[in-house]
Amino acid sequence: KQKLLEELKGKENITPDGRKINIYANIGSVGDLGYVMENDAGGIGLFRSEFLYLGRNDFPTEEEQFQAYKQAVQTMAGKKVIIRTLDIGADKQVEYFNLGKEENPALGYRAIRICLKQPEIFKAQLRALFRAAVYGNLSVMYPMITSTEEVEKIYAIVAEVEEELKKQEVQYKIPEQGIMIETPAAVMISDRLAEMVDFFSIGTNDLTQYTLAIDRQNEQLDDFYNAHHEAVLRMIRMVVENAHKCGKWAGICGELGADLTLTEQFVRMGVDELSVAPSMILKLRKIVREMKAEE
Ligand code: PEP
Ligand code: MG
Repeated sequence: KQKLLEELKGKENITPDGRKINIYANIGSVGDLGYVMENDAGGIGLFRSEFLYLGRNDFPTEEEQFQAYKQAVQTMAGKKVIIRTLDIGADKQVEYFNLGKEENPALGYRAIRICLKQPEIFKAQLRALFRAAVYGNLSVMYPMITSTEEVEKIYAIVAEVEEELKKQEVQYKIPEQGIMIETPAAVMISDRLAEMVDFFSIGTNDLTQYTLAIDRQNEQLDDFYNAHHEAVLRMIRMVVENAHKCGKWAGICGELGADLTLTEQFVRMGVDELSVAPSMILKLRKIVREMKAEE
């Protein structure tokens, strides 16, 4: 079986009737880059930048971040690398952030909310990202978006960062910028968000949690956490349609993207990209190459 998958390396993700889909890898650190290459990923669809902040006593410097992002885009040699900005929350405790205990961490001070309230943290990451973008095909993705105002605020900070880099005559590039769709609010206004950003990536882990009102970390609720819930699948369809109406692309980077029982459905819905654990890439390629996109 493994040998059959090996034979799919170097092949396209295309259905016999001609529909193509991008299959990218999710990674948690630059240490995973080896698996990404080994499994013939078309790119990196979700680079969780949190690892740079976890397990240490102080913020990573702009330079440390720049080096990590640069290494990722250089290793991928022209293939797309989508780096998600900080998605730390009250559940992922990092002492030097002084986040404090919360009653409802999943609904709390996390991700883009921290970045907008503490722009100095956000700006250091953006500077590192824009500098690294010079060395390859880098995209930036913002997590936990719920409103158009948040995107406007992000762009205002991006403009400030660009101004500073220009003044300091530092080499930089403003990359493609997209958002994660992982709140029901973002789904419902995805028609308007699509006008503002370059792409969507659907985070089904959080989207399922917030839609079904089920804590994704509470094992007692595992029986109720139904990621195949029709509400979630309809939301995915809606997000893809709204992206396409604006000429933007939409992918899935949550765990559901790797669910082999849903791959055919996703391709038929018009999902443009699936970003999954590296070990799942060839399995998905096999299904895509054997299915019909048009029923
Ligand atoms: C998600 O929510 O689906 C997602 C991809 O992000 P994370 O699992 O890191 O919250
Ligand atoms: Mg998430």
